[in-house]
Amino acid sequence: MSGRYNLPDPLTLIHPRSLKNLNYHLQELVKGRLWLKILIGMMLGIVTGLVLGPSTGTLSQEMSYTIGEWLALPGYLFLAMLQMIVVPLVFASIIRGIAAGEDMEQLKKIGLRTVAYFLVTTALAILIGLTLALTINPGTYISSELVQGTMTSNATQTDTSEFGSFDVAELPGMITTIVPTNPLGSLATGQMLQVVIFSIIIGVALVSMQPVQSKPLLELLGSLQEVSMTVVRWSMLLAPIAVFGLISKFTLNLGIDALMGMLVYVGTVLLGLLLMLIVYMLVIIVVTRRNPLKFLRSIRDVLLLAFSTSSSAAVMPLSIKTAEENIGVRPSISQFVIPLGATINMNGTALYQSIAAVFLAQAFGIELGFGQLLLIMVTVVGASIGTPSTPGVGIVILAMILNSVGIPTSGIALIIGVDRILDMSRTAVNVTGDLVTCVIMDKWVTGKKTANEEFIEVANQEAQRRVHDEDVIVISPGE
Ligand code: ASP
Repeated sequence: MSGRYNLPDPLTLIHPRSLKNLNYHLQELVKGRLWLKILIGMMLGIVTGLVLGPSTGTLSQEMSYTIGEWLALPGYLFLAMLQMIVVPLVFASIIRGIAAGEDMEQLKKIGLRTVAYFLVTTALAILIGLTLALTINPGTYISSELVQGTMTSNATQTDTSEFGSFDVAELPGMITTIVPTNPLGSLATGQMLQVVIFSIIIGVALVSMQPVQSKPLLELLGSLQEVSMTVVRWSMLLAPIAVFGLISKFTLNLGIDALMGMLVYVGTVLLGLLLMLIVYMLVIIVVTRRNPLKFLRSIRDVLLLAFSTSSSAAVMPLSIKTAEENIGVRPSISQFVIPLGATINMNGTALYQSIAAVFLAQAFGIELGFGQLLLIMVTVVGASIGTPSTPGVGIVILAMILNSVGIPTSGIALIIGVDRILDMSRTAVNVTGDLVTCVIMDKWVTGKKTANEEFIEVANQEAQRRVHDEDVIVISPGE
């Protein structure tokens, strides 16, 4: 009971429409087989890059660089548009997702368990990544000329002197920094962990207030979600040509020999992602006793879309719909776990970042001791949480990890050429991780209502929204 107004838990009164309803923005992309167009774009990109590249002698080095930049223009625009909307989309979705909870008690339980589960699986993904990289040693397959080439590029060099200066006394100060003292600054600069903390605090505050006060802000955030998904739909029109352009540019600049040298690295990351997928399927078998192949088939559309868009945030509406309608997860779980998971649960990205760090250390001939590997593990956990769920950012955040371990960040120039395919693949694994989390939490956090009761209630609420033409409805007790 809420003392002041003697009303029930406000969370049980206010009901914003689910993000799942914005799925119509993505339907066309699924039906139009975006993934196939993307694959065709990739193939054509590689061919164009090879034909126009310096190895065939068709164009001068300077000319091919200029052409590469122009070919990549739609790709740059595509990435910029998605990066532009990720912060508002995630901010609005986490807050409204919190408002989908059954009651405060359930919210607390699911929040703590979800975050603990995310941390454990992220650590596991990093362990898989490090073990694979240290066994296969992909960095030893790369020619020293190529490595020297990147050393002379104008990318920043790392200052290794700071390595090992970590002090336990600094920890409380570091923990405090995750609470943004300047939230607009965090939103503006895309500090994802701070954005998540800010969103959770605002969300919990909103659902603790009486609906008359929280409703207007929840409605405004609903508009923000709609705007963001509209921009996602527009940018997706560019996706196939964007992928074509970006792949042509990198193939053109790197040349066939360099690309071949990177094959072992690409193979190691893909193998790691596959192993992670197998771990998820084992979890599904143990926890739900379902056939993992059937599970994969039921989430196929969202995986293909994640692969095509390279953005966990952009596919959130379809992820929620898939979780509820294809795997039977309760809406109070999926609407909370998916926006949070899309933002901070990036097992595919964590696995990739740990392999990339070891690969570059090997390529630069840097020995990694136990201390450094541990440091990679800790920084990758933080970095993957802070990686925004948009295309191509996992590699940008990698610079931070490299810096902390003393690996030259100029090495990023080496791996960026093959990053498109790795980004698409790791995004599909990130999204699978979020869906598996939904299944686990659905089992682990029991609610007062059964799944069926929740589905019926949500359908009734949606009917009421239609009647009143409202996005956020308030249902008085006893109604
Ligand atoms: N594209 C990834 C995602 O949205 C993030 C990354 O770049 O690793 O999940």
